[in-house]
Amino acid sequence: MAKSNTENQLFNTKAIHTGSEHCPVTGAHIAPVYRTSTFVMKNAEEAIAAGYGDPEGKHYAYTRYGNPTVHAVQRKIAALENAEAALMAASGMGAITTALMAVLSTGDHIVAADTVYGGTFGFMKKILPRFGIEVTMVRVTGDSVENIRNAMKPNTKIVYVETPCNPTLAITDLKRAAEIAHEGGALLYVDNTFATPYLQQPISLGADIVLHSTTKYLNGHGDMIGGAIVGSKALIHHFDSDYLKWIGGVMSPADAAGLSKGIKTLGVRMEVHCANAKKVAEFLEHHDMVEKVLYPGLESHPGHEIAKKQMKDFGGMMSFNVRGGFEAGKLLMDSVKLFSLATSLGNVDSLIQHSASMSHASLSKEERESVGIADGQVRLSIGIEDVADIINDLDQGLHHVKKELCL
Ligand SMILES: *Cc1c(COP(=O)(O)O)cnc(C)c1O
Repeated sequence: MAKSNTENQLFNTKAIHTGSEHCPVTGAHIAPVYRTSTFVMKNAEEAIAAGYGDPEGKHYAYTRYGNPTVHAVQRKIAALENAEAALMAASGMGAITTALMAVLSTGDHIVAADTVYGGTFGFMKKILPRFGIEVTMVRVTGDSVENIRNAMKPNTKIVYVETPCNPTLAITDLKRAAEIAHEGGALLYVDNTFATPYLQQPISLGADIVLHSTTKYLNGHGDMIGGAIVGSKALIHHFDSDYLKWIGGVMSPADAAGLSKGIKTLGVRMEVHCANAKKVAEFLEHHDMVEKVLYPGLESHPGHEIAKKQMKDFGGMMSFNVRGGFEAGKLLMDSVKLFSLATSLGNVDSLIQHSASMSHASLSKEERESVGIADGQVRLSIGIEDVADIINDLDQGLHHVKKELCL
């Protein structure tokens, strides 16, 4: 059943209702999942109207070109980002690479943050140059956001940032980044995976394209891989009909249905992620085995003031440097019991990883240090378990490290 005037609804209402309409045919409260690869035409005229490959076609034709379950979750995510449209991909990297390929041509240039997600870094460093696309990576956090201006050239098409970024939780001023990008005639792309639209809506701050790994907080339960591209109707239509349908990395209807269910609780989950993370950060800041805590919610964090301006709260991700360096970081991985030793983030359960030996092992020690990743740096994705249990687990783990390494 069509809902009226959803634009005036608030976040949690949209998260639950937009794109989750009841089935108009059977009255099913939860609409069925359209697990079909193709769609049958009544006659040749309807087949023509389907406009094969045209997302504006009047009838569905083939699931790679569009599927009602996938379209429903697109509407939900667009509504939450206060954007006109969204497009789902098979993974966060599928979304990122499609959105880059759709705009860049040989001879173009992009400016990207020096700390982007590992896969994005690999695509920009190893694949884009093979197509004659030049990439300049600069520090874009705090006052160094001005570096973007200096790095831009007449052929710069995209400025690409992530905030908070991985794994140092450094913050980029999105309003400034958007102004600088637009002054130079480029589009601003923002990977909003860490913040989620509940905490930060980059389109409202001037961004042109927002990217998500829906694998993380949006789904929230660790049981799917997916991505989203969010932006204006014109850009998204171009990405869809001219790129994604041929590049082919589309989301499956089953994953779209699971994601839709996960997003319904995004707001309530984020409230607990943020509250728990704040308590854990304060606990770690006062622990004698911890040298430094990187959490934008702490006043000691260099991005705290900007984060306060552009985010509703500070999220569930943090990193900290454990005393004792590489060995201590590694030993802590084997000492925690509640935390799962795993990459990824944004699940209801707490995850831990050692950046130097896991996510950033491919970087040299010097490269790691230049982007602020110490040998003893541990990244936490704080879940929504009872926070006392999370803190107790870290405390016993840190005590174990202290005892074993005689620190
Ligand atoms: C995980 C992640 C990605 C990549 O998403 P996949 O779903 O794993 O392809 C991109 N950006 C950020 C910030 C991420 O955390």
